Amino acid sequence: MDLSNITDLMRKTQASIDEKGFLFKSTDAVVNAVGSDGIRVMMESALTARDRVGVQDFVLLENHTSEVAFIENLRKRFKENLIYTYIGSVLVSMNPYKELEIYTKQHMERYRGVNFYEVSPHIYAVADNAYRSMRTERRDQCILISGESGAGKTEASKKVLQYYAITCPANEHVQTVKDRLLQSNPVLEAFGNAKTLRNDNSSRFGKYMDIQFDFKGAPVGGHILNYLLEKSRVVHQSHGERNFHIFYQLIEGAEDDLLRRLGLERNAQQYQYLVKGNCPKVSSINDRNDWKTVRKALSIIGFTEDEVEELLNIIASVLHLGNVQYGGEDSGCSYITTETQIKYLARLLGVDGTVLKEALTHKKITAKGEELMSPLNQEQAASARDALSKAIYGRTFTWLVNKINDSLAFKEESFSSKNASVIGLLDIYGFEVFQNNSFEQFCINYCNEKLQQLFIELTLKSEQDEYEAEGITWEPVQYFNNKIICDLVEEKFKGIISILVSIPQHSPSFHKLADGKTRKVMGREEFRLSHYAGEVNYNVNGFLDKNNDLLFRNLKEAATQFKNSLAKLMEILMSKEPSYVRCIKPNDAKQAGRFDEVLIRHQVKYLGLMENLRVRRAGFAYRRRYETFLQRYKSLCPDTWPNWDGRLVDGVSTLVKHLGYKPEEYKLGRTKIFIRFPKTLFATEDALEV
Ligand code: ATP
Ligand code: MG
Repeated sequence: MDLSNITDLMRKTQASIDEKGFLFKSTDAVVNAVGSDGIRVMMESALTARDRVGVQDFVLLENHTSEVAFIENLRKRFKENLIYTYIGSVLVSMNPYKELEIYTKQHMERYRGVNFYEVSPHIYAVADNAYRSMRTERRDQCILISGESGAGKTEASKKVLQYYAITCPANEHVQTVKDRLLQSNPVLEAFGNAKTLRNDNSSRFGKYMDIQFDFKGAPVGGHILNYLLEKSRVVHQSHGERNFHIFYQLIEGAEDDLLRRLGLERNAQQYQYLVKGNCPKVSSINDRNDWKTVRKALSIIGFTEDEVEELLNIIASVLHLGNVQYGGEDSGCSYITTETQIKYLARLLGVDGTVLKEALTHKKITAKGEELMSPLNQEQAASARDALSKAIYGRTFTWLVNKINDSLAFKEESFSSKNASVIGLLDIYGFEVFQNNSFEQFCINYCNEKLQQLFIELTLKSEQDEYEAEGITWEPVQYFNNKIICDLVEEKFKGIISILVSIPQHSPSFHKLADGKTRKVMGREEFRLSHYAGEVNYNVNGFLDKNNDLLFRNLKEAATQFKNSLAKLMEILMSKEPSYVRCIKPNDAKQAGRFDEVLIRHQVKYLGLMENLRVRRAGFAYRRRYETFLQRYKSLCPDTWPNWDGRLVDGVSTLVKHLGYKPEEYKLGRTKIFIRFPKTLFATEDALEV
């Protein structure tokens, strides 16, 4: 084995060695230090290690088209607690369901300013890479985290934020911003996350967070956009699920005095809105401690005591509203049987008790230009009450996000958001399929459909388009372009949302939606969409139920608003350079060490990872514009140094031939050089250092 072979092998196996604790910065230095025998021994152990731990980039798989090989690699790595693997620059992350010692400050340091491929795959590498691209190329970045519920999206986004909080430069002002950015998480999670069957800390809203950096690379501000909070959870939870964390935190954690002021008892079972799921306690959650964390976070973010009190008044009001009960008169009209609740509500919300009672038992109608109060029957009144609770909670959540945004906004005159560079973090609920799928699943899945579209546009399609534009010949890769599904949902006039919005409440034509828009007609009340991630039946009745409250008109606006806000999000993301984190959930039991192959295969499929890999393999790891490439490496060749006078493409061609690039390692396009493997570029980079 000659030295160049050893070096080459070492490059390939470097990651395995690294994951086991050896870090080779310079292969030459190692050769000098241990001699060729030493190298052989190390190589052997490295190769054995690689066999055991798999490859750190799926691109290196020998049989890259085999799903079996893909899953095997995931399995090997998962067994060794190696939860991260790349597909080129896309990070695949497996939820370990246990704490791993890989998020320490030392780990952060290891990833700081280091090339993607020189260290083992990690979420910190993605964070650092985005940060460096932002700094050096002055281009806004975004990190898009996807995966199904419980796959680890929120944890991943928190790790990214922590990485920036620890590693970015800071002064006193920046430190405050960092603290606030970090503390926004427990607050938003308290109000927007809940225990579901799939995840004990499931985000029930979508979140996009911009972190703004100044010219020195210090985080100086932030902004959060929130999407589609699952408000129905406020009034109803499925068996084994809970309401939003904050309710339990308040009841478990609040001081006696505060509870008394709010008129609450320290017993979640007392509250109708908390008993539906029959799940007041969760072993993995400590509501009392979380309460303390949230209280502290609220003050760090800058909420005054009065604001906190107001916030809690509203949360308590929702619980009291849930306990409002009705009786029915023979005439069909309803009346309230729970006076105590009204008393508390009137006080907490600062409204007149009589007015409140009327509002909870009547609806306003307009007849012949006149506004009248028409009585509601018992059932109608109960849904009016629930609608009010949902609306109150939803608006409080929006208020909370706005308050957090105020606190994260640029404060200092010297900074202006125009000069700031941005890294956006998207943590949005994954694709959902339940037994009964209704309006909320429809919106969530539509959102995922849009994100998949973006992924296709930005990675698969743009990659292929670029080769075409550059005149590079290669085998196109087939992939399912889900644009057709997005159009079906959002097209003007004939898309599902347009139809939904144009149908009057209780109209039988709602059912036409079911019949007219399906590949295969289900029941009269169902329609099926062939999402990229699988087929889902939606129950139109469910759509009606969810919309059938007194805020029906508002909700219809919500559907359109959601569509518009998603379109806006896509625009924001399109203007940035994306990094992708694809999270995988290893099992449904939330257990460490359990690798459920069927479940994982399904996720690999619908995350489009095999297609992603095929495009990546067919493609080229690096591309550089000719002038950039020449500028950087011209000193390595006497013919191009100090300047090349001819055509750029000829200069690059002369340079790479001099460097010994083999024809299969690169291609020359119209304006750029395409380099197939990272190692080729590494060798060139190393040559620069010598
Ligand atoms: P949802 O769509 O329901 O919000 P999610 O993808 O955001 O789901 P997370 O809340 O991030 O999922 O993760 C679920 C749980 O899995 C976490 O509460 C934690 O227990 C565990 N987990 C996820 N990622 C990691 C990790 N890197 N290390 C240790 N545990 C993890
Ligand atoms: Mg989450």
